[in-house]
Amino acid sequence: MRRKAEDPPREHQAQGASGPALSNGLQMSPTAMVDLAARAAEALVRRSEELGREEAWDGEFRDELVNKLMQDPPEGGRAPREVLDQAVADILPLALRLDHPRSFGFVPSSPTWPGVVADFLAAGYNINTCNWLVASGASQLECVVIDWFRQWLGYPDTAGGLLTSGGSAASLDGLVAAREAAGYPESGSVYMSDQSHSAHQRAVKIIGIRPEHARLVPSDDAFRIDVGELASMVTRDRAAGVEPIAVCANAGATATGAVDPLEELADFCASEGIWLHVDAAYGGFAVVTERGKRILRGIERADSIVLDAHKWFFQPYEVGCLMVRDISKLEKPFSIRPDFLQDALWGSGHPNFWDRGLQMSRSARALKIWMSVQTFGMAAFRRAISNGLEFAARAQEYIDKSPVLACTSPASLSVVCFRVDPAGRDIADRDLDEINRQVLARLFWEDPAFISSAMPRGRFSLRLCIVNHNTTWDDVLETLQAAERFGRDALAQY
Ligand SMILES: *Cc1c(COP(=O)(O)O)cnc(C)c1O
Repeated sequence: MRRKAEDPPREHQAQGASGPALSNGLQMSPTAMVDLAARAAEALVRRSEELGREEAWDGEFRDELVNKLMQDPPEGGRAPREVLDQAVADILPLALRLDHPRSFGFVPSSPTWPGVVADFLAAGYNINTCNWLVASGASQLECVVIDWFRQWLGYPDTAGGLLTSGGSAASLDGLVAAREAAGYPESGSVYMSDQSHSAHQRAVKIIGIRPEHARLVPSDDAFRIDVGELASMVTRDRAAGVEPIAVCANAGATATGAVDPLEELADFCASEGIWLHVDAAYGGFAVVTERGKRILRGIERADSIVLDAHKWFFQPYEVGCLMVRDISKLEKPFSIRPDFLQDALWGSGHPNFWDRGLQMSRSARALKIWMSVQTFGMAAFRRAISNGLEFAARAQEYIDKSPVLACTSPASLSVVCFRVDPAGRDIADRDLDEINRQVLARLFWEDPAFISSAMPRGRFSLRLCIVNHNTTWDDVLETLQAAERFGRDALAQY
């Protein structure tokens, strides 16, 4: 559908000799635009070619950067290439390279190139996916991508959702829907395990749950929520006049990859009439594989699910997702219709994404997912996700056989925690913590890999999270071997 029959003829203005800007001061000539974009693309391609040969981490202290960058904005402009070159040389490299094949810390990410290009296109086309009138193409594409996710999760036709800035925003929107479904109680409570992501504690604060009603339920030996304990907390709260709003379950807890007993939780929440919100921000995309589907069985019974495509679905930041089993339960709290937006309504069947969450102006996030899936196909995505599952399992086997290392939380999804703890030697926990801190520090300063630590059951541990489509088994193996080597050194001094 087009309003204008034909584009007006375009006149290319040549770049003035005085500088990059055209007469209105904020425009560039077509030649200068292409030149700048090409230079940016070349810099990115060069970076990706060199990535595996570099260290996973680089960074700088504040004083150094203040000296370099804290300047007043210039009154006149500079050559665009010069500005770009400065960003590429002095600013952008100072970062954890989350897409380095040996970046195993926190939850890394490794965007595919069509996804990166899609973000560039979306910005250039200046798409605002706020509603159907303003962006019908991108709105429909978001419907398409959301429907893919719906099918992968095993959700019914009533389900729907929206793409968000990330998992934190998605959980916030999900808990708003949960509170509405619970009848917006005066005094509500939310339950989560002691392994849950800090995003939930933030979301709970934002929706105005009293801190003492954000209930942390203990987890069992496998870091899964203790459903018996959850049930007694709910009973006690109800008796005290506190109304349960939601249970937040983990489908891939960040520290250990633990998956809560989703079916048991779904039974419990159904019998109690409590909203089940599943945090699958890190782990959710495992459902596209057979193995992942088995591990996450029961996820389809959740009232809402959070996914992060900027983690294990190989997209550039920012793209998370909230899926809701019954989309009307999300639109009920969020669709608000002020007069000044009355022209934007296209009637039923034309979803307005501003009716589903906290954001009004929204970038066209679906484009990157769509372009990368169209380019590579699902078989390639499935393989890349399977590799993460397989490498974590192999890492655990290696750790179990190692005379120096011991597992502190077994491989779950693509996370495994371990530490230097030689079999047959009786070393106090406090000393093991210190030894492992030294090992982590040496990995940080002396090894190309980047890994982070976790405290499963209070024991200082090294943690691998494997979600990069460029990571090979050798990347994992050599990182484990480096930990063994540094571990032996530390033990020799002990
Ligand atoms: C990363 C993560 C979040 C937070 O998501 P953001 O995209 O960083 O906002 C929440 N839960 C889990 C399990 C995560 O791994």
